Amino acid sequence: MAALDGLPPLREVIQRHALDARKALGQNFLLDLNLTQKVARTAGNLENQTIIEVGPGPGGLTRAILALGAKRVIAIERDARCLPALAEIAAHYPGRLTVIEGDALKTDFEALAAGEPVRIIANLPYNVGTQLLVNWLLPKVWPPFWQSLTLMFQREVGLRIVAREGDGHYGRLGVLCGWRTEAHMAFDIPPQAFTPPPKVTSSVVHLEPRAHPLPCEAAALERVTQAAFGQRRKMLRQSVKPLGGEALLARAGIDPQRRAETLSVEEFVRLANAL
Ligand code: SAM
Repeated sequence: MAALDGLPPLREVIQRHALDARKALGQNFLLDLNLTQKVARTAGNLENQTIIEVGPGPGGLTRAILALGAKRVIAIERDARCLPALAEIAAHYPGRLTVIEGDALKTDFEALAAGEPVRIIANLPYNVGTQLLVNWLLPKVWPPFWQSLTLMFQREVGLRIVAREGDGHYGRLGVLCGWRTEAHMAFDIPPQAFTPPPKVTSSVVHLEPRAHPLPCEAAALERVTQAAFGQRRKMLRQSVKPLGGEALLARAGIDPQRRAETLSVEEFVRLANAL
């Protein structure tokens, strides 16, 4: 498709730089620039914003973010083969794109943001994405250094992020996300939109930090959710036995006969605080 930004179509960029997709790096590229713009727009108005993008690959989403007016994009990419293609984008938008070759899991994002408000946008392999999301949710200080996270996941993971009590997808991730953020599912992207197509549908999820999450220690919340959802079909008096069982539940004012997936985020926080 003809590119609106004056840069060559992504298919041509991929061919010219021989960027055959590597499975080990979870490379499923989005080549439709309308779709990459839709993902970027989910992060809100990008005019004058600083964006951290993780896993730019050949740069489809990067181009959308820049075309939508971001003041600056800092992109972290692990695959050195993508750097020449990204350098072409940087040349097209002088001074607005900085590419860092590296592993996002070892990157100090707060240091990269350097005190500036940033929005994070990423289309990553799902295992890397889930770990990064958890890291971004658990900084020592809150509100965090980021203003929003707009992330693409397998639909299944997206459903776990936005799940609340009574929902079959509700678990540790849902409690953690619900505690510190307002998370919503933006839209789905079918496998055939990617090159090569992955096996499953993807979803774009958008999270914004709560200004005042219920006071609670993250480590305690992790312990109670791990225990409760580790045996999700059992009653809580059984599943949280190692943490204090009925006495703990009594302190938190929670019926010991309930099961993990019926507890609201607020009740998990009470349980963590009772620990
Ligand atoms: N953003 C591009 C798009 O939407 O078409 C590429 C998305 S592709 C699903 C994931 C990208 O993340 C690949 O370019 C891959 O090389 C990169 N990647 C994988 N693991 C990474 C890691 N640990 N740190 C940084 N980038 C990584």
